[in-house]
Amino acid sequence: MEFTPTLIADLQQAIGHALDGAFYQKRFAGLDPREIDSQAAFEALPFTDKNDLREAYPLGLSAVDEREIVRIHSSSGTTGTPVIIPYTRQDVADWATMFARCYATAGITPADRIHITPGYGLWTAGIGFQLGAEKLGAMAIPMGPGNTEKQLQMMQDLGSTVLCATSSYALLLAEEIAKRGLKDKIQLKKGVIGSERWGEKMRQRIADELGVALYDIYGLTEIYGPGIGINCSQSSAMHLWTDFFYYEIIDPKTGVAVPEGEIGELVITTLRKEGAPLIRYRTHDLTRAVPGACPCGSPFPRIDAILGRSDDMIKVKGVILFPGKVDSLLSGIADVSSEYQIMIDHLGGRDQLTVFFETAIENVDFRAALEQNVQAAFKQQIGFLPIAKAVGMGELPRSEKKSTRIFDNRY
Ligand code: ZN
Repeated sequence: MEFTPTLIADLQQAIGHALDGAFYQKRFAGLDPREIDSQAAFEALPFTDKNDLREAYPLGLSAVDEREIVRIHSSSGTTGTPVIIPYTRQDVADWATMFARCYATAGITPADRIHITPGYGLWTAGIGFQLGAEKLGAMAIPMGPGNTEKQLQMMQDLGSTVLCATSSYALLLAEEIAKRGLKDKIQLKKGVIGSERWGEKMRQRIADELGVALYDIYGLTEIYGPGIGINCSQSSAMHLWTDFFYYEIIDPKTGVAVPEGEIGELVITTLRKEGAPLIRYRTHDLTRAVPGACPCGSPFPRIDAILGRSDDMIKVKGVILFPGKVDSLLSGIADVSSEYQIMIDHLGGRDQLTVFFETAIENVDFRAALEQNVQAAFKQQIGFLPIAKAVGMGELPRSEKKSTRIFDNRY
């Protein structure tokens, strides 16, 4: 984003408000917001990370009088202390505005019937989809997750036209609809899918089986929740509502801004948030800025669909590599299974990457040809030539976490 005088004024105001709360009073002790008068001065401010927010449990993030807080949400941390985000009435209204804008960008109108399957509770999922639907003036059908039987019944009886879901639940529903031959009885036209990373194959299957257009919605609890960006019908990249926040894309290792268009970690500064303003918050989501104007005519800038987590990213030969990229590369090659393992070594002064993949093919010549295909795909899609080695099905160790498939032996 361009560093205009208006942006500087907005950032100074946001920092000034953040300093109303104990959290940033401590972090930015002695800072006068007027000192933040240039991009360099702003980028010299320390990042805020999720672990910092945990230390503020329960309500240490609040920058307003407790009586102004109308709601709290909590991020779904798998371990340790949760993060509590307080919202003022204005924060809830701003979130609704952004979410309604997401629906409108996806071509959803007040005539639509929005079937909401993400969960309701402390987290921001279901309630955000609900808020946006009501703000838009569409009919919200607050199903929550599970009970597929009832989902399909209500979908038919109420004539749901928009499905909001995670990619995995959308796929499950799509398969059930196909299996029961209900496709003619449902009226779904669009799917709004939460921003977990999902492959092109999965997207195609959901779109084909449901016969709908799919939209990727982005967000995180720390920054309102889902609804701070979505792709339009003209592009797979997501527009971000930068009238409410400022974003940067940084090298996760050095913290320095990457050149425009290069992959890095998304960092967000809220411009209008009252309850829990955040300055330079690290999302750990990997993406890149998409340069140029969108054919849809929207003035809002775009980022790529989320490519993975910055914690899983590795640099080899100056090229950024992360599990999602390897997944999608291998899924495009016939006879290569989704199980793989990558070893990175530093030999004779050079980085060397070896990719082991499983295949059911046993013929030695066919395997050699397959290895060449994998090498060629790496060269073309990632930018350098690895060593590729085919192994039999079940020969690689199984791991829950995708990042543990990449072993960096260089350091
Ligand atoms: Zn657009």
